Amino acid sequence: MSLIDSVADMTGKRDRDSLEVTVASVLFELLNPRRLMFWRVFEHAGSLRLRLRAGLRAGQPVAISDPGIDPDELPLLDSRAEFRACFDSNAPLRLADAVNGSYSHIYPVTNEHAVMGLLEVEHVAPLGDEQERLVDGLLRIYRNYLAVLDYGERDELTGLLNRKTFDRAFERLLARDVRVNLPRHDIEWVGRRGVADPLEQHWLAVADIDHFKRVNDRFGHLYGDEVLLLLARLMRSTFRATDKLFRFGGEEFVMMLGRMSPTSAHETLERFRAAVEGFSFPQVGQVTISIGYTAVTATDTVSAAFDRADEALYYAKQNGRNLVQCHEILLARGAIKPKLAHSYDVELF
Ligand code: GH3
Ligand code: MG
Ligand code: MG
Repeated sequence: MSLIDSVADMTGKRDRDSLEVTVASVLFELLNPRRLMFWRVFEHAGSLRLRLRAGLRAGQPVAISDPGIDPDELPLLDSRAEFRACFDSNAPLRLADAVNGSYSHIYPVTNEHAVMGLLEVEHVAPLGDEQERLVDGLLRIYRNYLAVLDYGERDELTGLLNRKTFDRAFERLLARDVRVNLPRHDIEWVGRRGVADPLEQHWLAVADIDHFKRVNDRFGHLYGDEVLLLLARLMRSTFRATDKLFRFGGEEFVMMLGRMSPTSAHETLERFRAAVEGFSFPQVGQVTISIGYTAVTATDTVSAAFDRADEALYYAKQNGRNLVQCHEILLARGAIKPKLAHSYDVELF
């Protein structure tokens, strides 16, 4: 494969998972290393952890950390001193001596703001200048392309995912469970827990700020926007790096949570509600949110799941606000009526 083909291949990807696998496999082909690992560094519960986005060895499927894995089970950045050093210095690092006949190189992968990942290359010989330039060049293309993707997929004010990306993210969430392979690559999910626990499901939640119109009316839109920004920050620190967080325009936020039990889902959302309630927003003071959520079933559709969460949110708004409500619990309690959702599906002959 020529270099031009490789670059065309990389920038032809519209989703990040495939993009990272492609960057890693292009580098694998060009460098011919023993092993090449593409790690993402992310923060979870106050510490930095490593998520494997693509691990390649000749003749083996691409290894990727299972997106459903509990982040607590992922390795700490600090468990690898050389990773930590590369992360802190934001400069490539070459280990002086061969270990088991391999020379290790570690490259920081950065976005506009910070080091977001690490590329680890093990080779039978130290990489030469030309190879290093190649790595540097491809990582630059990767970074620029990622910024282009971000521009189309993220909300400008908060940096959360935008509404446009929601449908696809939802479909991918369901597809994960049937192990769809990335194009052209066999995948081995690392850390996947045997059979998924049937009591653990994905969850979809919708949050809406309570009486936000009053905030704008009293303090102006600029302070209103500041509330949105800080709320997004509280959101990021409450949920896992693998949960997907969206701003649906306005003051409505949507959360797609990875597999967990009904109790954990409720506790997580309740923690978010309480974090917002307990936060003092500059000038504005206290702001509260209402949340509605629902369990996502394997055969769900985006609109059906969203409508259920929204109905639970509506119930929370009608019943005092600053509340977290679950659609299934409300149904079981008889607090809301089941929809005659399928009546229009009946075909008349
Ligand atoms: P409720 O508790 O029923 O949700 O009351 P609310 O006042 O929040 O009502 P609603 O959700 O219908 O109102 C949305 C308000 O949010 C309208 C508008 O003033 C404000 N808003 C929407 N988008 C933005 C935004 O991007 N920035 C700012 N500052 N305000 C926004
Ligand atoms: Mg609203
Ligand atoms: Mg509102």
